[in-house]
Amino acid sequence: MSSEDVAANLRHVLDAVAAAEAAAGRPAGSVRLVAVSKTQPAAVIRPALAAGHRRFGENRVQEAEGKWPDLRAEYPGIELHLIGPLQTNKVREAVALFDVIETVDRPKLARALAIEMTRSGRRPDCYVQVNTGEEPQKAGILPAEAEAFVTACRDEHGLPVTGLMCIPPADEDPEPHFRLLRDLARRTGLGVLSMGMSGDFPAAIACGATHVRIGTAIFGARPRP
Ligand SMILES: *Cc1c(COP(=O)(O)O)cnc(C)c1O
Repeated sequence: MSSEDVAANLRHVLDAVAAAEAAAGRPAGSVRLVAVSKTQPAAVIRPALAAGHRRFGENRVQEAEGKWPDLRAEYPGIELHLIGPLQTNKVREAVALFDVIETVDRPKLARALAIEMTRSGRRPDCYVQVNTGEEPQKAGILPAEAEAFVTACRDEHGLPVTGLMCIPPADEDPEPHFRLLRDLARRTGLGVLSMGMSGDFPAAIACGATHVRIGTAIFGARPRP
């Protein structure tokens, strides 16, 4: 990807987000773009920063620690989201580096985050990840347990929970999953809905997404690991 390509892709995605907002009758600017830069080197991320974008998503703590401290020093105002599974032995690094942790999905992790937030005084926003497709291999709390888990995160652990996040099954119509997440957010009184990726973000916006997580459509295909 050349710098021009990344900047043009970013513009196209922002235009498509705006078009989906308008088509859904939602106010302009009600959907935030999380540019997913996982596996992409700093040289590919820089054109998006140079174009003024500041909200990014990474799925591995260690990889993010290698890229973002330098980019942060260069570009003020960056908001970094963790969108991949978080192991409890990486909680300290995650709380130090990320502004939003989108993948809170089990009591043990909620406890570890609460302890680290108290210790460090840093309080990144937390989203609860819901496994809407009930896929055994996928992270996330089951839908039937989501309400009780959100309540425990807030009231028992004192976590700053502001939203819900889901990754629908790859081979299904995502809309029922988006609607399920929206209904869970209504029931738990949460305002943030992180859902929608390169292939399905217009549908997610129609279902009420406040944050879409888009990688490939901005940065191109990811390098093989
Ligand atoms: C990789 C990833 C994305 C971005 O997917 P694209 O299809 O490249 O837009 C979004 N959300 C999560 C959780 C991811 O891991």
